[in-house]
Amino acid sequence: SRVFAKCLQGLPAPATIEMATRARALRADGKPVISLALGEPDFATPPAVVEAAHKAALDGQTKYPPIDGTPALKSAIARKFARDNALDYAPSEIMVSNGGKQVIFNAFMATLNPGDEVVVPAPYWVSYPLIARMFGAKPVYVPCREEDGFRLKAEALAAVLTPATRWVVLNFPSNPTGAVCTPEDMQAIAEVLRAYPDVWILSDEIYEHLVFDGAQAASIAAIAPDLKARTITLNGVSKAYAMTGWRVGFAGGPADLIAAMRTVQGNATSGVCSIAQAAAAAALDGPPDLVHEMVAVYSRRRRSVVEALRAIPGLTCAMPEGAFYAYPGVAACLGRRTAGGSVLDTDHDFAMALLEEEFVATVPGSAFGYSPYLRLSCATSDADLADACARIARFVGGLR
Ligand code: PLP
Repeated sequence: SRVFAKCLQGLPAPATIEMATRARALRADGKPVISLALGEPDFATPPAVVEAAHKAALDGQTKYPPIDGTPALKSAIARKFARDNALDYAPSEIMVSNGGKQVIFNAFMATLNPGDEVVVPAPYWVSYPLIARMFGAKPVYVPCREEDGFRLKAEALAAVLTPATRWVVLNFPSNPTGAVCTPEDMQAIAEVLRAYPDVWILSDEIYEHLVFDGAQAASIAAIAPDLKARTITLNGVSKAYAMTGWRVGFAGGPADLIAAMRTVQGNATSGVCSIAQAAAAAALDGPPDLVHEMVAVYSRRRRSVVEALRAIPGLTCAMPEGAFYAYPGVAACLGRRTAGGSVLDTDHDFAMALLEEEFVATVPGSAFGYSPYLRLSCATSDADLADACARIARFVGGLR
């Protein structure tokens, strides 16, 4: 058998892939599958953004761009950070990468050594621990409990920090729960971090605009300016501008870490597609119409989904304050038998049986390190969401 790199050994295949593969097979079989598994906006990129890309290509913006981003996009990013987050970043403190995901990869590769610890609030977006593990670091999880609205509590964070901690990841609004930390929560978190001056902070704010009912996302580097010199503020255009395929993410951070991340990126990709960068600049400088439309739509869908789920005896569901997911709890369903005869021992069993028997694809909480829950994406049509909730009700109603 062939030999692959040690850094890939023992990396689990994400449960999202398993669900997607099975959903595809069922659909090919003619089954009426509804997928609530994907974390991708069901909106189109604004036409003005597409036109900016077209124009850039025709204008000859088709050569190698600077590794860390085009000057035009970097200045649009500086304006965005100043406008939305009250954060001032110089050009040397800004870097453009292939999606927010490459920001994390660059930052971790530039700083982590085997044995280092990366603190990740759970439930978490799967990439933080997976990327940390690629560099030999050990993910350490902090539970964010449903009774705390899935917010990160300062005491819980303090309990897991050690001299080996190199990074603390913050992701609010959260994927998968939609939890948003209040400025007071963030102040308390900052106070804990002050006692660990060698710890880097990754603040993943990619869902910042998708907040509901007056919730306000908080940037830790703005709330605690004394921590800005060790914070990477991550953002991107994938979620706010429905631009997942363009692969543009970015970071603001201290110049020395940004320079180290530029070295990583220079050796990996030489930077980001020049045309996509022109599009991203147009998105950031453009009107916020699409963001407002998406917030209204996601907020409405989230409310109807949560209300439908709460009406099902056996499920609990917190009302998400941000992002576009719902994260219902299925604890009361475990240990029971489905109409199709499967016994539900875990949330993974629940998600698989729901897919096999009612053709609704979700992702089990175990994939996000926090069970027993399911993640449902509301980035799909109202009709499909209503149908999916009716099927979930029938599925749970059929448990014995
Ligand atoms: N951060 C979070 C929490 C996400 O959910 C995602 C995408 O799913 C990303 C970052 C990265 O998105 P992208 O690489 O498309 O910018």
